[in-house]
Amino acid sequence: MRATILSAVDAAADELIALARRIHAHPEIAFQEVQSSQWLCETLERHGFAVERGVADLPTAFRAEVGGSGAGPAVAFLAEYDALPEIGHACGHNLICTAPLGAGIGLAAVAGQLSGKVVVLGTPAEEGGGGKVLMLQRGAFGGIDAAMMFPPASYTLSTRPSLASRRLKVKFLGRAAHAAAAPEEGVNALDALVQMFVNIGLLRQQLREDIRIHGIITYGGAAPNIIPDRAEATFSVRAADGETAAQTLERVLNCGRAAATATGATVEFETKKGYEAMKPNRRLAAAFEQHLETLAWSLDQAPERPKMGSTDMGDVSQVMPAIHPYLTIGKDIAGHTVEFREAALTEQGFQAMLTASKAMALTGLDVLTKPAFLEEVRAEFRR
Ligand SMILES: [Zn+2]
Repeated sequence: MRATILSAVDAAADELIALARRIHAHPEIAFQEVQSSQWLCETLERHGFAVERGVADLPTAFRAEVGGSGAGPAVAFLAEYDALPEIGHACGHNLICTAPLGAGIGLAAVAGQLSGKVVVLGTPAEEGGGGKVLMLQRGAFGGIDAAMMFPPASYTLSTRPSLASRRLKVKFLGRAAHAAAAPEEGVNALDALVQMFVNIGLLRQQLREDIRIHGIITYGGAAPNIIPDRAEATFSVRAADGETAAQTLERVLNCGRAAATATGATVEFETKKGYEAMKPNRRLAAAFEQHLETLAWSLDQAPERPKMGSTDMGDVSQVMPAIHPYLTIGKDIAGHTVEFREAALTEQGFQAMLTASKAMALTGLDVLTKPAFLEEVRAEFRR
């Protein structure tokens, strides 16, 4: 079955690369991935998948299935295809979405010999919208025993932690006045917001080193000769675990309350749960590593201080065994940059995508055909 799977991925390589190029050239942001989603669904249908579009009440989400004559387990490969605003596919989602197709197409070639099911899930809006969180809540992950996906990176690692995140919108309200003629009659909402940023900057000195707080001002007034009566910002608060992220968010709210007191403005908060931290399944990751090695793709040494973001795959990993292994598409390039966007359109990028397809397919084969292996994966998850 291994040889059949690998040659099926090779046979689909040109098609997958063309699709990765096409999606890269047509970046669509969170929840608006209409074209990308359609192209992915059409490709899956051409390869024999039954595709359900618009699952979980999300127009650009999909669930594609193949095989499974019996009551065997189901393995899911997850596709992300949203681009970043303005900068395009600077997170390489054009490769993240084609790799699971490759894995699915590989396993579809042996579907007749499987009792279980191969699922490709289209998960929109990873960059902030949390498509996977909504799909989990709405049952689109039903019946899946293990989930995996591949993000490109500047290194190859089978596991890397991610940060739990919480989100905050802040609005300060003051009183407008002529900034030159009668400033004493105003209450400056922008001053309150600037003060909040200063408070957070000082708070940062006393925070644990895994904690991140970062924000932008989204409204700061209408004109310099008017004391702003309204100022708004959004923040992201992150930490290695969800509990710390929530506690830190509370301290950030206090920074805002103190700024309101100091300036006489009033403050309103809107908080939202972001993503949970990644809980990688080490047994699944070990199998993925072994397959990578047999595909002659070398692994990097895990860094002592990994550079971490957040992902909605973290939420998936909290409810089922899951992995999120990284394959390198170039040295020393950071995600969400123009350099990374260009790297997602290179031969090295396409090779990483195809190798990830193969390693995921072979790991999926282990899940589907080795009950003892799946039991180890489950036992680790329960621990
Ligand atoms: Zn990203």
